[in-house]
Amino acid sequence: MNYVVAPPPVVSIPVAGGADRFPVRRVICVGRNYEAHAREMGRDPSREPPFFFTKPADAIVTETGNVPYPPETKNFHYEMELVVVIGKDGFEIPEDKALDHVFGYTVGIDLTRRDLQLAARDLGRPWDWGKAFDKSAPISPIQPASKIGHPSKGRIWLSVNGAIKQDADIADLIWNVPEVIAFASRSIRLKAGDVIMTGTPAGVGPVVVGDKIEGGVDGVANISITIAPPQK
Ligand code: MN
Repeated sequence: MNYVVAPPPVVSIPVAGGADRFPVRRVICVGRNYEAHAREMGRDPSREPPFFFTKPADAIVTETGNVPYPPETKNFHYEMELVVVIGKDGFEIPEDKALDHVFGYTVGIDLTRRDLQLAARDLGRPWDWGKAFDKSAPISPIQPASKIGHPSKGRIWLSVNGAIKQDADIADLIWNVPEVIAFASRSIRLKAGDVIMTGTPAGVGPVVVGDKIEGGVDGVANISITIAPPQK
């Protein structure tokens, strides 16, 4: 095989507790999956079917540390989320078999250019430019389900410069992990390597250069990043 340009490197996330890495195929995100967050976004939190958007695999940042302030926004938001990683392919996965497809869990921040997302939403346009930009998905090392089990409750929190901004429980997910896997796998064939960001609780807000974001899900993982100046 002779590629006409260098093929992109495989994006991967460290697996906690060793040198192994999880190769990423794509990032699937659930929209509005906590009631109080749906309300703060001006939407009805009733239990409408879940909806999804995606980020490219190479939006993932695995080194904790600096994430540059992205271009073309004046309203750059954090969203702390429980992350599920898929270790086994499946299509039309029933809820009671869904956890068999989970390799493990971690946490990530669904970084969002909120001004671009809302403008697109209000015009009926795709969200991609608000959500799927470079370095928009900082993610912590993966905890295998074989070690931590399948968490269904636990505090999910985020602070900016030490002040708590998001504070909820993953038990408050409108659609829980088995339901999300069941729904997503009706529309697409889930594959080993898929990473699912399950949605954020209330309290989203803006950050600026120099802000330190910390957070996590108790019993799963923590994450810490600092917003760096724009990258040229
Ligand atoms: Mn999100």
